[in-house]
Amino acid sequence: MDRIVVAGGSLAGLVVALFAARSGREVVVLEGDDRPVPAAPEDVWQGWRRRGVPQFRQLHGTQALGWSILAARAPDVLAELGAVGACAAQLLTLPGPVAAELVQLRCRRPILEWVLRRTVLAEPGIEFRPGTEVTGLRLGGRSRPRVSGVITTSGELAAQLVIDATGRRSRIGEWCVHAGASAPQTRTVETGQAYFTRWFRRSTPFTATDPMLRVELAFATLLLCPADADWFSATFFAPVGDRALRRLLMDSDGFRAAVASVPSAAAWLEDARPVGTVQFMGGLANQLRHTAPDGRSPVGLLAVGDSAVCTNPTWGRGGALAMASAAALVDAMTAFDNPSAVTRAHTVWTTQHHEPWFYDTLLLDAETNAAWAGRPPSPHLDRPFRHAAAALVARTDAGVGVAYMRYRNLIDPPEAFWGDTEIADRVLGATNAGATTHLNDAPLPSRQQFLALDHAVV
Ligand SMILES: Cc1cc2nc3c(=O)[nH]c(=O)nc-3n(C[C@H](O)[C@H](O)[C@H](O)COP(=O)(O)OP(=O)(O)OC[C@H]3O[C@@H](n4cnc5c(N)ncnc54)[C@H](O)[C@@H]3O)c2cc1C
Repeated sequence: MDRIVVAGGSLAGLVVALFAARSGREVVVLEGDDRPVPAAPEDVWQGWRRRGVPQFRQLHGTQALGWSILAARAPDVLAELGAVGACAAQLLTLPGPVAAELVQLRCRRPILEWVLRRTVLAEPGIEFRPGTEVTGLRLGGRSRPRVSGVITTSGELAAQLVIDATGRRSRIGEWCVHAGASAPQTRTVETGQAYFTRWFRRSTPFTATDPMLRVELAFATLLLCPADADWFSATFFAPVGDRALRRLLMDSDGFRAAVASVPSAAAWLEDARPVGTVQFMGGLANQLRHTAPDGRSPVGLLAVGDSAVCTNPTWGRGGALAMASAAALVDAMTAFDNPSAVTRAHTVWTTQHHEPWFYDTLLLDAETNAAWAGRPPSPHLDRPFRHAAAALVARTDAGVGVAYMRYRNLIDPPEAFWGDTEIADRVLGATNAGATTHLNDAPLPSRQQFLALDHAVV
């Protein structure tokens, strides 16, 4: 196989390019955004605009699966991230192999992308072309369409393998249809949820054992998440249609008052200086793209990251899954030497290992949305126990705790956790024995008390 073209140079595109180049491939990355990359990490926050990545300055953390993929395939990236303040957060402090796997990568998204981009720019075998948008495909083949190249805003490029890493809003369907092939089948399920994030810095850096704080309110979730060095984010996930709550949280003082009204979160603000204003993001969806059932999806067109499977970001899965799909694709390219076999292998991997996270996230979202609406969880949630119950029992039962963390960090697939009868027995046993369905220790503000804060800050 000759050179590989990667459309999109964000997390999935950068990682697949890096892994492919390191397995001996010649790679061209085409990235629509043309903004220059700042030279120094301290200029990244203010000085780097990413039009193509609207979540660039939102909360970001990378689950342990992502950390372990980088540790195995690009330890230099982790070392460089560490040098600019990223934290390898230890989720279990006990020594041993279980704890060694449970490490999250914590840093702001621009820092992660900055280090990855610079590594890619310095990597022999990769040509990175910023400001070059892919607009279509060239196809050949008789019985089944085969990729022969891409059309871009700066001309055409021949390639037998084109990797689509252009994210959830990929136009892969249009490209296929215009070139005479069938579009993938796309399933989109709106989450009904929105993000409100504000960034802070404190006087001392976080350490590897500082925990994050997740508080389940009756009507929203608050997540306080350490990032690189002294940075941390405070984020509310809330129903996208709750306008009164939105009015409160979009106001900088209202946001601060809201965080301060949550007992376990208030202490985080004591030594915290806000950076910038509250950042909103709605329009969040779970999305899946399947190859066309008529067998007319092009051979050699391979989707990775959000273009293939996108999950509600409140569960923090997209970055690690993008890395996993990139790694799996490069393994398929190493194992097979022709585009048909690579395409088949990647389709099978995506179905077996990537898609289950889409279905899992739909169930988690359904439970969350029901809880926020004050409804009992739908009987259609075909699961032996609730996520909220598992998260609660995981705090006190070490066996459930490790299994839960492995699942939440994507190390074990959803079916391994939800299908484990011993875990189910322990969660149900603890719940029946009187564990509350509430994850928090101190009394929490109600929505009415929250909304009253709005008047207090006006
Ligand atoms: C609010 C929010 C918070 C999130 N928080 C987390 C988190 O904490 N942890 C986590 O793991 N994940 C998180 N995610 C998910 C994560 O951001 C995505 O899963 C990840 O960015 C997917 O990477 P990607 O490379 O597939 O796509 P994207 O990051 O969307 O990148 C697509 C790239 O393709 C480029 N592009 C688009 N079209 C073209 C074209 N035609 N030609 C050339 N280039 C093109 C774009 O400019 C962009 O660079 C979050 C997402 C959101 C929305």
